[in-house]
Amino acid sequence: AKLIKEDVLNKAKELNVKFIRLQFTDILGIIKNVAITVNQLEDALDGKIMFDGSSIDGFTRINESDMYLKPDYDTFTVFPWRPTDGAVARMICDVYKPDGSPFAGDPRQVLKKVLDEAKEMGYEMFVGPEPEFFLFQKDENGEATTITNDQGGYFDLAPMDAGQDPRRDIVLALEEMGFEMEASHHEVAPGQHEIDFKYDHALTTADNVATFKFVVKAIAETHNLHATFMPKPIFGENGSGMHVHQSLFKDGKNAFYDEDDKLGLSQIAKYYIGGLLKHAKAIAAITNPTVNSYKRLVPGYEAPVYLAWSSSNRSALIRIPAARGAGTRLEMRNPDPSCNPYLAFAVMLKAGLDGIKNKIEAPAEVLENIYTMSADRKEELGIESLPNSLKDALGYLLDDEVIQSALGEHVVEHFLDAKIIEWDIYRTQVHQWELDQYLRVY
Ligand code: GLN
Ligand code: MG
Ligand code: MG
Ligand code: MG
Repeated sequence: AKLIKEDVLNKAKELNVKFIRLQFTDILGIIKNVAITVNQLEDALDGKIMFDGSSIDGFTRINESDMYLKPDYDTFTVFPWRPTDGAVARMICDVYKPDGSPFAGDPRQVLKKVLDEAKEMGYEMFVGPEPEFFLFQKDENGEATTITNDQGGYFDLAPMDAGQDPRRDIVLALEEMGFEMEASHHEVAPGQHEIDFKYDHALTTADNVATFKFVVKAIAETHNLHATFMPKPIFGENGSGMHVHQSLFKDGKNAFYDEDDKLGLSQIAKYYIGGLLKHAKAIAAITNPTVNSYKRLVPGYEAPVYLAWSSSNRSALIRIPAARGAGTRLEMRNPDPSCNPYLAFAVMLKAGLDGIKNKIEAPAEVLENIYTMSADRKEELGIESLPNSLKDALGYLLDDEVIQSALGEHVVEHFLDAKIIEWDIYRTQVHQWELDQYLRVY
């Protein structure tokens, strides 16, 4: 940590902070928080704030429910859209058990564990995400609709792009919170947007993604709009992805770069790709964790379907952006913003490390458009597909011990429990599509 206890106490005083929110995420990636007043800040910094974990999704059972929150001092930041007199700050916390050991159901600690494993091998992971989202109007009762607030498309300008004001406010708020902002633009679908911030250490980026999602929602609210990270809210339009750019550094140098290689990629990068492709089906359960996620992963909407990699091709699961040298990285394109970023980065890193440890060769890169490739040609090249549904993905997770070991028993058990229920509720619904399709015909 860069900040010490006194720094945080001083900052809180200087910035007139009255409330501090102690944040963490549940297994499903939903941010939870408890607010304390500044009087309790010192206790909070000492990790003395307790909460009842039994009511948090996927956390724990009633008989072992006391949990402690230990804030990461470096994540102290003030919410710029809240009052400045009696300001509201937050810190992201790790969750501990009363005996002082890390709680196995805390996604942040799941990621830390895999990062430690990488560190033992000499690697540091950097991650840059590209989160996309929709802005929807609300109805007269203040409920979210799927009516978009504009008809704009990719890179459009106002007046086609009615998202410019909310986007601007989001960017300014995040900057005030310490984010280094990069591009922001209208995306392909009406009402769809993307805002990118700078890549960073994997843990910081996971914290940033969690923060990003609730800041976007909070600022959209101030424009009377509903922001959603649901992966495919509108049939027939592009869905929202969260492409994840990733690289490993060793001794301060990008371990994915090799100037002598034809593509400028090191053997380490190729093994990492081999590992990602080998485990991609199980990874999908975590990076694409909702029923709706799989409605995005269909051909024709710039979302990946096929397990392949390419130095240019956007129809492949893994793309290698053109930058080389320190910027050498791969882009995994299936994750969507409904995922828990801590768990998502943890399983991708684990797969990559497995590739490196076990020298899993990447297949040849695929330069043809795979969306339009014949089934025969795909078979010839040995190109498989991502799972078709959440149900299939959960099955692959159940069969993949490497990915399970990244998550740990506690998370696997609670995640699968929650998701199998989710699938069952979905599968027993009668959807409007079925009525339209069958009611008259039969
Ligand atoms: N929205 C697309 C997806 O689902 C990505 C589009 C893009 O960023 N070019 O992944
Ligand atoms: Mg982008
Ligand atoms: Mg995009
Ligand atoms: Mg991208």
